[in-house]
Amino acid sequence: MNTMEKFNEHVMGSYGRCELVIEKGQGRTAVDENGKRYIDFGSGIGVNSLGYCNEKWVEAVCAQAHELQHTSNYYYTRVQCDFAERLAAASEYSKMFFGNSGAEANECAIKIARKYSFDKYGKDAQRNVIITLENSFHGRTMATLSATGQDKFHNYFFPFLEGFENVRANDIDELKAKLDGRVCAVMFELVQGEGGVVPLNQDFVDAIFEECEKRDILTVCDEVQTGVGRTGALLTSQLYNVKPNITTLAKGLAGGVPIGVCLADEKCSGVLTPGTHGSTFGGNPLACAGGLAVLDTVLSEGFLEEVTKKGEYFRRKLSDIAEVDGVDGAGLMLGVRLKTKKAGDVLKECLENGLLILTAKEKLRFLPPLNITCGEIDEGMEILAKILTK
Ligand SMILES: *Cc1c(COP(=O)(O)O)cnc(C)c1O
Repeated sequence: MNTMEKFNEHVMGSYGRCELVIEKGQGRTAVDENGKRYIDFGSGIGVNSLGYCNEKWVEAVCAQAHELQHTSNYYYTRVQCDFAERLAAASEYSKMFFGNSGAEANECAIKIARKYSFDKYGKDAQRNVIITLENSFHGRTMATLSATGQDKFHNYFFPFLEGFENVRANDIDELKAKLDGRVCAVMFELVQGEGGVVPLNQDFVDAIFEECEKRDILTVCDEVQTGVGRTGALLTSQLYNVKPNITTLAKGLAGGVPIGVCLADEKCSGVLTPGTHGSTFGGNPLACAGGLAVLDTVLSEGFLEEVTKKGEYFRRKLSDIAEVDGVDGAGLMLGVRLKTKKAGDVLKECLENGLLILTAKEKLRFLPPLNITCGEIDEGMEILAKILTK
C-alpha cells in the first residue's frame, strides 16, 4: 500500500483530498514524496504566511521548544505576554483571548457578544441574536456552523444553535430591518473567503458600524483569513477605516502553528471573567513564538507595502490571461472568475504541472505566502497561463 492508501485506512474521509503527499518544503516550494517540486500559491489555506520553514520562524519555534513547550493557563508565561503585548500594540486592541483555531476564536467572539448583552440587559431581555451574512463562513464547530450563512452547511447535524439570522451582504435596508431589540452582535468577513473571495462594499460596512453604534450592538469582524497582512494591512478593517468591537484572527497568524485569537476593545474586553471561558492549549508557547516571528516580519519596514505591490502585480498577471473573466479580492487574497473552464479541473492540472492553487466556489483562489517574490509569481503564473490557454 502506498502512503495515500494507508492514510485512508486510518484517517476519516472528511476531506476530498488531492493526490499529493507533501514531504517537505522550503520557501515558496513544496516537495512531494518523489522529489517533485511545486510552487505554492495557497500556503495551506493562507496559513504558511512566511512560506515553508522560514529561517527566523524555525529558529523562534525551535528555541521555544527547547525552553518550554506548554504550561496550563493557570500560570503565566513570558512568551504569551510578549506576543500579546506586540499584537495589542500593532492591532490597537486592548485585550485578547487565545485559542487554537479560527472556529475557536469565533466561538469566543460569540460568547463575548452574548454575555455582553446578558450582563448589561439581563437574562429576560433575551438580547442574544447574532446577525451574520449570507455566503459567509465562520467555522465547523456547531456554533460557528450555525453562524455560517450558507445552506449547504446546515445539514446532517441537527439541531443547529438558535439565535443566528442572516442578512444579504451589501443590502443596507435588510440589515436595518433586522437590527431589532433581540440583536446583540453583527458578525461578518470583510472579504468573504470560502464564499468565493467577495469583498463587502464600503457603504455597507459603514452602515453596519453606524447602525450598531446607535443600538449598542457589537461588531464582530472575522479576519481569520483576511488578517495579519493578507490584504496589505495588518487588519483588513484598517483598509475599510473601521474599528470592530471584536476581531478574530487565526490562519496566518503563527506561520503554521495552530493558533486563534479573539481581540476585544474596551467596550467588551472585560466580559469574560474567571471560569466563563477557557482552552487547554490556548496561548501555547510554540504558537506564541511562531506568532512573534510572523509579526516581526509582517510589521517590518516596508513589508505590508510590498504585499500590496505584489498583490497588484499578481492581479495584473492574472488579468492578462484571456480565459480570466475578472479578479476579485485585495492584496494577496485573490479570486479569479473563469470564462469557460471549471476551477476544480484547473486545480488538478496545476497540481500535475507543479503548482499548488486553491478554489473557492466557482473561482480559482490564491493565498500565496506573503513573502513570495515577483520571480516566483512569474514562475507559477507561467504554469497557470499555459493551462488556462490550452
Ligand atoms: C478558515 C476560516 C475559519 C475557520 O478556521 P479553522 O481554523 O478552520 O477553525 C473561520 N472563519 C474564516 C473567515 C475562515 O476563513
